[in-house]
This record gives sequence, C-alpha cells and structure tokens, in this order.
Amino acid sequence: MISRFCHILLLLLAMLLCMVQPAEAQEKWRTSSIEGVDYVRLDDVWKFYRFTPREGKDGCLSYGAGKRTISIRPGRQDFYVNNFRYVLSYPVRMLGGELMISAVDMLKLVDPVLRPRYNPNNKLRTIVIDPGHGGHDAGAVSAYAREKDCNLAVALKLRRLLQKKGFRVVMTRDSDYFLTLQQRVDIANRCPDSIFVSIHHNSGRRAADGIETFTLAPHGTTSPFARTRRHEDLAGNNQDSENIALATAVHSRAILSTKATDRGIQRARFSVLCTIRRPAILFEGGFVSNPQEGRLISSPHYQNKLAESICEGIVSYHATVCQPLPAKASKMATPGKVRTSVSGSRLGSILNRSNTK
Ligand SMILES: [Zn+2]
Repeated sequence: MISRFCHILLLLLAMLLCMVQPAEAQEKWRTSSIEGVDYVRLDDVWKFYRFTPREGKDGCLSYGAGKRTISIRPGRQDFYVNNFRYVLSYPVRMLGGELMISAVDMLKLVDPVLRPRYNPNNKLRTIVIDPGHGGHDAGAVSAYAREKDCNLAVALKLRRLLQKKGFRVVMTRDSDYFLTLQQRVDIANRCPDSIFVSIHHNSGRRAADGIETFTLAPHGTTSPFARTRRHEDLAGNNQDSENIALATAVHSRAILSTKATDRGIQRARFSVLCTIRRPAILFEGGFVSNPQEGRLISSPHYQNKLAESICEGIVSYHATVCQPLPAKASKMATPGKVRTSVSGSRLGSILNRSNTK
C-alpha cells in the first residue's frame, strides 16, 4: 500500500525533478557585466523555460509553468523553486529597468535544478555517510544535545534504511572516534560509483533554527561561506550539476518531512566539499543551541524523520540523475565548466546543447 507520505514524495519528485523542455533554441542570450560579473536578463530565462508571471507573495516576484514556480526578490540572493529556498551566488540585480540574474547562477543552479542532467556515466551503488566530528571533537554542544552524538545517531539510522533499499553503505565513522576532514574525503574518493553525504547539526543564536544544505560554491564565485573567489580548479566542481541535484532532492524532503525552517541550499567551500571527486553535500539537520529544536534533534523520533527524508532524497536523486529517462525527456542541458565570464552566444550554445542518450 502506498502511504500518504509516499504520495507526497512522488508528487514532489514530479514537481521538482521532471524535465522541462525549453521553448526553443535561444541563441542570443543578452549578457551584461555588473561589477565584473556576467548577468543575463531574467526575461530571457522565463522565455527559455516558457515561464509566465504569477502572483508573488511577501515582496517576491513569481514566474511559473505547470506545477513549478520560481520566486525571486530584486536585490537579494534568495531564490525559491516551488517554495524551497536556494541562496544564489550573486544577488538578482536591476539594470536599465530589467531584472538580471548572474550567468553562473543560471548555469549552475537554475538549469540543473529545473532540468537535472541524466548522465549515463553516473553509476550509484555506494553511499558514503559521514557523521561529522567525533572523539575529542564534539562539534556544537548545548544543554540539549552534543552534535557528534546526533550526527552519528542519524547516520546509523540512515545506514539501515539505505541498506534496505539495496545500496552499499560505507561509514567514515560508525562510533565515537575522531577523523580528520582529509581522512573523510579519502574514504569517499576510494569508493567508486558513490556519493558523499556529510551529516552535521548547527549552533548559533538561541533563536536560530532550521535546516540548511551546503554544496560546493561554483568556480570563481563568492558566498557568505566562500568569501573569496577561487579560480583554481577544485575537484568538487567537476560534479556541480550532480551536487545541486543531490542537495535539492535531500533538502526538499527534509523540509517537507520535518516542517523545520528552510534555511536553504547554500554554497560553501568547506574542506570536505572541495577535494572530493564524488557528488557531495553537507547537511545541517538543525540547531542544537535552540531550546525547542535542540530537544527535538536529540530525540530518536526526530532523528528517524531526518534519516528517512535523507534516504528518500537519495533514492529520488538516484532515479533522476543515474538512470535512463523516458525518450521524451532526453533533451537536456550539459552545462559543463563555466568560468567567470560567459558570452551570450556561449551561454546559448551551452543551454541548447542536447544530450540524446
Ligand atoms: Zn558540525
């Protein structure tokens, strides 16, 4: 019997991860440079995906097609797809009366989220689960919980669930001991056909709460957690499309299941994300420092909820990115490597390139 929860997940899967056919090959993307960053007109973006204006809420401008809606706030880095929050690498800007989005956000966030790329080389058999901290490193500590314990509890529950689904699971640690960040990455890099899911919990102001998921910042960009632009090649950037697809699948299910505050899918250059050669995310399951959330996080019931939603996200990612799609949905973008500068015609050729496999 399909449970109501499964129905919701299936609906979400359809909403978030089904393919969108572009309106037509759009060769001329009008680009402008704003403070050294290439931007494209949002009008061109809406046209490309056949999105039309919708009624926005809370000062957001909304556009959509079918069951999907994108909302933005001029001047801000908030970007919502079906009400799930993403943090752009650069704010949406206004230029000559037109709204603009950075080309790198278009290629590294908007397109892979709307049209997750099936790659016949993506074989997924192993999930590397990385419970953050351990041993002498307790991570965030409060009166309600110790981060290292919560990370491990969620990770062990997740291991059982994934094994039941038929995945091979490798734990970077399965009890309370310390590993360096590099040791964690080395374990994942030794596992062929794997993805890497690092599990953490947060600490902050007493009132701070919610779930956030980090993926590696795209090449040459900045973000609150990646303050300086990095121009050298990072191994983790070779999986940019897979990283954001994995983050979308896991994060959206965790928000839906827990009803926690959505702090968004954010960009960072945390060391475990930089040198990894597998699709990777760092998931923060809530704040141990918040009185309500801290108590929840230390409860087995809530830990189960987190583990179940991460597991469902991984299953959905696997079905979308690693397995063949129906022929109808086979026209997809292959964004490839994007440098800080991209011309309109280059953007057009990247987005119009189809993958017919
Ligand atoms: Zn941590």
